[in-house]
This record gives sequence, C-alpha cells and structure tokens, in this order.
Amino acid sequence: MKSNFSKWINQSSKPFLIAGPCSAETHGQIMQTAQGIATYFPDAIFRAGVWKPRTRPGAFEGIGQEALLWLDDMRQQTGLRYAIEVATSEHVELALKHQVDVLWIGARTVVNPFSVQHLADALKGVTHIPILIKNPIHPDVNLWLGAIERIYNSGIENIAAVHRGFYKYGQTRYRNYPAWEIPVQLKTIMPDLPLFCDPSHIGGKRKLIAPVAQQAMDLAMDGLMIETHCNPEQAWSDASQQITPKELLKLINGLNIANSEADEPNGELNILRKSIDIIDDELLSLLNRRNALSHKIGEYKVKNNITILQIRRRKNTLKNQLKQAKTLNLNNDFIKAIYQTIHDESIRIQSEIKKSKSTKKKL
Ligand code: PEP
Ligand code: MN
Repeated sequence: MKSNFSKWINQSSKPFLIAGPCSAETHGQIMQTAQGIATYFPDAIFRAGVWKPRTRPGAFEGIGQEALLWLDDMRQQTGLRYAIEVATSEHVELALKHQVDVLWIGARTVVNPFSVQHLADALKGVTHIPILIKNPIHPDVNLWLGAIERIYNSGIENIAAVHRGFYKYGQTRYRNYPAWEIPVQLKTIMPDLPLFCDPSHIGGKRKLIAPVAQQAMDLAMDGLMIETHCNPEQAWSDASQQITPKELLKLINGLNIANSEADEPNGELNILRKSIDIIDDELLSLLNRRNALSHKIGEYKVKNNITILQIRRRKNTLKNQLKQAKTLNLNNDFIKAIYQTIHDESIRIQSEIKKSKSTKKKL
C-alpha cells in the first residue's frame, strides 16, 4: 500500500507529528496553538476536531463549518497542513471544498461498517487526500482491517492507521486501554501501512502521554498524534489530556527514538536472532513429539473407557511446572498460559480421536 504518508514520514524530522487541539474552539485559539506548533515543528500536520462525536448529548459538539474558515486562515498564515475528523458524507463534501490536507475517521465511526462504507462511497475518486483510520473502540483487529479495506477498495491508497486505545469495562490506568498486541497484529498483516499512535486518547491524562508515546516509538510506530492546546486547562473538550506547544517540544525532545532498521547480516543482532530461530525449531519439534504422545494417550483412553480430562492430573502437572519454572526464573503467568494452551491442545487431539473411533463403531 503506497501512501503519501510514507513520503511525508521520510521527509519529516522524527517522529512524524500530528498536533493540535481536540476541538477547534475560537479563531484565536486555533491561531495561537498553531503558531506555537509551527515554531517548533514546521512540518507537523495541525489537527482540530470540527464536529465532535460526544458520548452524551449536550456536551460541546464542535463549532462546525465556520471552523474550516479559521483553519484555512491558519494554514495560510503558518504554512501548516491540517487534518479534521469526518463522519458523514456532508463532512467529506465540506472538507473537499476547503481542500483539507488530511482527513481522519474516528474510533466511534470505525466500529460501524455501514458508516465506513458510507464514507468510502463519499470518498470515491478522491485519491489525493490521505485518510487516517483510527482503531475501532473495541479490540478487534478485523474490524480495523475491514475499515481500512473499505476505504482502500474505493480507490484511496493514501491511508495510515492510528492506534488510540480500546474501551475496557471497569477502571484502568488509561482512558483507553492500549492492548499493544492489536496494532502489532495490524502491522504484521499490513507491514507497509504507516501506523501512528495517539497517546492523548490512550492516556487521558497529561502525565501518561510521554510513557505511551515512548512505548509507541519502541514498537517502531511511524508517528504520533498528540492533542495540543494553547491553554489546555481551559479546553472545551478533553482538557485533562492536552498539553501546550512548549510542553510538546519538551515531550518530543525527551523521547528515545531508536533505529528501526535491523543491523548488518553478521552483526550481533542477527547472530542472536539465528540462535533464537534454532531454539524455535527445537520447540516445534518438541511440540510435535508431545502431540504424538497425546495421540497415543487418546487411543489408550478410548480403549479403556477413561475420560479425556483428568482434572487432578492437569492441576498437579501445572503445579509442578510452575514450581520448576520458578527455579528457572521464568515468569509465572507466561508459563501458566503456555501450559494451559498446550494442555488444551492435548484435549483437542484426544477428543478428535474419540470422535473418529465412535464414528467408525457406528459404521
Ligand atoms: C479525536 O481525535 O478528537 C477523537 C474524537 O478521537 P477518537 O475517535 O480516537 O475518540
Ligand atoms: Mn479529543
């Protein structure tokens, strides 16, 4: 998947940055915030929500169309490109009229395939504007992938994904739980798709933005979307997670941006990786030998009419394995999860044997 983003990312200083307020509030707020951002990050993309999807009615739902005039003015005066959220075909139509540089589809829209398809249809033939696709609210990589495919299928190649965390029932440290394995899965499926992180909506609090941004950089994400406001405490939406342009500068300068390229063929990293590959091969052949034994056990149990699950045996072996793991300094939860999976596989194999034997008997 080719993307304008890839071009911009390569040309930009690291990390690639999308910064600006949660919502456009006033012409003055846009200008003051943008001037700060442009001073420190002239190649950033300025973000501002013009229509805001709010959980409850009555909250500030965005300025609407008028804010596009302020953003046009901001672009002219600062030279910053800008991004807005679109959720309906009317939003797309207005965004095109104003030649908005980048559009994003929010988490609440991405959950609904009808809404995404509606946007894909409205965007048909609009190949020049890059589209950012946030993850859906729940941690379902296929739903995220589906939204990307719908937009891609309408002829748009300039796509990037944005990880903004996931809803989790109950209290967590985060506003939206990061579930890092989900963006990693997406990156594995679509390695060429640029992937950004939005630490503001993940953290929900100023102090969590830096550690979340650092984790995103450590996972080789391509850039950051950070809510930035000239006067965060007084923001009309998401006040607790916005930072000033100066704080943004400090945050970005404090990040450790490691090299995402692997080292040369005979470098230390590759030698270590080769050793890991050998161990992985050994693990596979051990699992293969183990499964063969499960198979024999399954046949014995059918012949002697013994239940597949022997709960005392399962409990005791797990207890012994965890004891042994402790002496080897292996993490308890890690070994527990592995052994439960291995034992579940053994049950599956034995159930298959039982099923095939009883079908044979019936025949
Ligand atoms: C936003 O970026 O302002 C926003 C509403 O984000 P999300 O769709 O991730 O909740
Ligand atoms: Mn916000």
